[in-house]
Amino acid sequence: MLVKCPECQAEVSDSALKCPHCGKQLRKPKRGFFGKIFLWLFYLFNVLMLLWLISGMNATSEIANQAVTEAEKAGAAIGTGIGITMILFVWAIGDIITGLLALMTRPKA
Ligand SMILES: [Zn+2]
Repeated sequence: MLVKCPECQAEVSDSALKCPHCGKQLRKPKRGFFGKIFLWLFYLFNVLMLLWLISGMNATSEIANQAVTEAEKAGAAIGTGIGITMILFVWAIGDIITGLLALMTRPKA
């Protein structure tokens, strides 16, 4: 289907993002199918990691509360540190991967 360019009145395809005659932007570029999936994956991943971090902190603080001796408390603290570090590490790696995928599939003008 052909539409008229509002700028130069030339007939352009309605699927064109830009007028081929005057270069006016006709429509905003949209994300493709995979672009949407990767973007949602990126958001979903961040939400899941946040939930994991919160639940991880809750679980380890419960262990720390139940610890009686100083050695047990120290062990729980170290365990928490390792656990949180691991979560943050996985989070960072996953964010880079899903972020890059979302970036690569972003719409081009
Ligand atoms: Zn035009």
